[in-house]
Amino acid sequence: MSQPRPPMNSRPYDHSAQSELGSGQSSPSAPGVSGSPQHWETRYRRRRLSAGIGLVALAALILAVVSGGGASSHRLRHGARSSGSRFIGNAPGGPIEGLGNWTPAQTAAVGRVLRYAPFVTQGSRRRRDVALTFDDGPSTFTPQVLSILRREHAPATFFQIGRSARQYPDIAREVLAAGLPIGDHTETHPALAGLSPAQQRTEILDGAKSVQSYGAPYPRLFRPPYGSFNPATEKLARGHHMLTIMWTVDTRDFSQPGAHKIVFTALSGAKPGAIILMHDGGGPRGETVAALPRIIHVLRHRRFRLVTVPQLVLDDPPERTQSAPQSGAG
Ligand SMILES: [Zn+2]
Repeated sequence: MSQPRPPMNSRPYDHSAQSELGSGQSSPSAPGVSGSPQHWETRYRRRRLSAGIGLVALAALILAVVSGGGASSHRLRHGARSSGSRFIGNAPGGPIEGLGNWTPAQTAAVGRVLRYAPFVTQGSRRRRDVALTFDDGPSTFTPQVLSILRREHAPATFFQIGRSARQYPDIAREVLAAGLPIGDHTETHPALAGLSPAQQRTEILDGAKSVQSYGAPYPRLFRPPYGSFNPATEKLARGHHMLTIMWTVDTRDFSQPGAHKIVFTALSGAKPGAIILMHDGGGPRGETVAALPRIIHVLRHRRFRLVTVPQLVLDDPPERTQSAPQSGAG
């Protein structure tokens, strides 16, 4: 643990990591082939030996990430060239590898948590799992978010506004095609606590119908806009088999504080079991798009595993008592 880290580890954000991987793949044979007697090479090889385990492990990790997302990334880049902002173009992307759609085990886990928790603000703290979530889409920014998630091979969960899903059904379908879970974020994004139970019911169920209208399954996750809910909302969501998902970290990206600030806020609040709130719709989301790659890179550098919300609920069931987040975002 006290050994100095390999240079690559000290530059987690450096995009040249991939090119270093390229040289790393060929380097094992290079010194032997050259047979050079130079001292620098001897020192180099000795240093390589001392850092060997770390380098090999890191290279394997990067190789796994690059090779896992490589094919789809290439297809996506190609698609972006041929179709402007639409990264998938005429060739719909398949699920992000290792995700797929909801599994029966995830559905069962949601049902178990529904029985004891009115809402979820974070998973258990036992594992270094973090869930990225995006609200208020779909929008014209959603394809950019999806493109990054595909390239980084990173899962996330989307809480869509029904009205927006009807406005952008093709974009909404791209989220579905990526195998990413889609939750209900109401039909028109009102503050539910100010509505009657009947009005709340209409908002929640119309939102569910809208996401189903383009092919998504009935949503088993629900997130109240602005974090605004009351006991009637809890009863409605539970009665319709939806688990209410709040958040641990509000990046406040909707206020457009700058990409650096979004990165800082997301990473400052990251901890085991955290649910991070961001937005792929509801306004200009260029800063969110700019911040996302670094958030993913640094979380992984800190050895967090990115998971979807249903996976978090399955692997890290939340505690029975949780407090609601303070801020009124969402
Ligand atoms: Zn919202």
